[in-house]
Amino acid sequence: MQLNNPELLKNASFINGQWLTSETVFEVENPANGQIVGTVSEVTPGQLEMAVNSAYAACEVWQSKTVDERAVILKSWNDLIRDNQQDLAQIMTAEQGKPIHEAIGEVAYGASYIEWYAEEGRRIKGSVLPNNQQGRRALVQQTPVGVVSAITPWNFPGAMLLRKASAALAAGCTFIVKPSELTPFSALALAELSLQAGIPPGVFNVVIGSNAQPIGEVLTLHPKVAKFSFTGSTAVGKKLLSQCASTVKKTSMELGGNAPFIIFEDADIDKALDGLMRSKFRNAGQTCVSANRIFVHQSLHDELVERLRLMVSELTIGDGQDETTQIGPLINLKAVEKVEKLVAQAVTSGAKLVLGGEKIKNSGYFYQPTILTGVKPFMDIFNQEIFAPVASIIAFEQEDQVIQLANQTNYGLCSYAYTNNANRIWRLSEKLAFGMVGINEGVLSNALAPFGGIKESGMGREGGHWGIEEYLETRYVCIGNVE
Ligand code: NAP
Repeated sequence: MQLNNPELLKNASFINGQWLTSETVFEVENPANGQIVGTVSEVTPGQLEMAVNSAYAACEVWQSKTVDERAVILKSWNDLIRDNQQDLAQIMTAEQGKPIHEAIGEVAYGASYIEWYAEEGRRIKGSVLPNNQQGRRALVQQTPVGVVSAITPWNFPGAMLLRKASAALAAGCTFIVKPSELTPFSALALAELSLQAGIPPGVFNVVIGSNAQPIGEVLTLHPKVAKFSFTGSTAVGKKLLSQCASTVKKTSMELGGNAPFIIFEDADIDKALDGLMRSKFRNAGQTCVSANRIFVHQSLHDELVERLRLMVSELTIGDGQDETTQIGPLINLKAVEKVEKLVAQAVTSGAKLVLGGEKIKNSGYFYQPTILTGVKPFMDIFNQEIFAPVASIIAFEQEDQVIQLANQTNYGLCSYAYTNNANRIWRLSEKLAFGMVGINEGVLSNALAPFGGIKESGMGREGGHWGIEEYLETRYVCIGNVE
């Protein structure tokens, strides 16, 4: 990697403003070529305890600052991230594999949350209630919850961290995050910039390890941690949620998805294809909001499949560092094996392979962009997150039928529909059982809007004023005997 600012490449946990190494290290691999991006120190149990204690102690320092002072520091962090956008993107692409232009976009997207929350911190407000008894006054305050711990996934190694940390810090909380062992360098680079921005020691900490379970136990069980925020799979989220129960922590869970993408007979087919390409193939299909089940009205089915085939077959596959790459590798061999199995099972059960369907034999973890038609609800590919560049297509005839099929999942993160019927738009916005509904739009997320799911896709929201409320307690103060 040729970085303008080599200082960004760190190899140890960042705790209480210091880089703490240990005797054990592990390697991080570039999924595009199997080469080693670098080695990182494993956090020790003592260092983890130190992270919690320093975050706990730093609450006083951070909360003693005025909101204006916190806003200035957060804005400086935002500015530094934007100034180092290219380097941060390079680091991200090297460890995660996504095309460099997507990594550049992710850095800007992550920073936009800091920018938003630096201001939103100023809008936290309590209230004074009207008196309903003589001599009494009632106030409601909104106070920071305290120490926040977080665990984030590899698919958006910068943005998933920043969506949480920005809101937590703006609320006056301190923060400890464990990024995925597959993508630690992006988080560590953000930590270096937090130091340069003047975020005080202990306020923002990054702990690194290749064995997630014991680290997760500290972050979910420790009594000094007040709130736990997770982004990752539903299976791991359920386990961590149950661990949080022992100390009744506040929790936010951003979990998996199984997004329907519905194209009705009255849709603008050009716009639908554009939205579908962006929703399905961004990050090689490794997004929680990726179109997982594509429902196409029978009358458009053949035309849409053919046009999609032409568009998908032109996608440029390769190392994300190459500017022309549109589809990078999957994250690891396990991910390739999972999609191979899903596609094989679908084809054996009657789905038709229109394009792709094989891993690409090179030194990285590449899978061909793939189109399947004739997918049925009993197939695993209908019910599981595909997390790969596989478009799984189902034909439908009736609106009621497709809504019922779209909702036929335990997930409830994101859904999409393309139609030009105004009444239908209202019906869909009310009947699709998902935390997010995109109508005639394939990419929804931004710092102003509430991102999050219902059902087994989680609880809590990131973005907008909803995001900061996740890090605030509501406290009622009653003052009696006022004369
Ligand atoms: P994952 O396997 O659940 O891992 C997520 C994080 O949890 C990683 O940091 C992982 O660490 C850690 N982890 C795994 N097992 C753990 C344990 N027993 N105790 C403590 N921590 C543990 O998910 P993933 O494969 O990284 O990410 C993909 C999933 O995230 C998908 O389901 C996707 O839909 C979801 N996601 C959701 C959103 C959203 O906003 N709703 C956004 C992005 C992704 P290691 O990696 O170090 O093992």
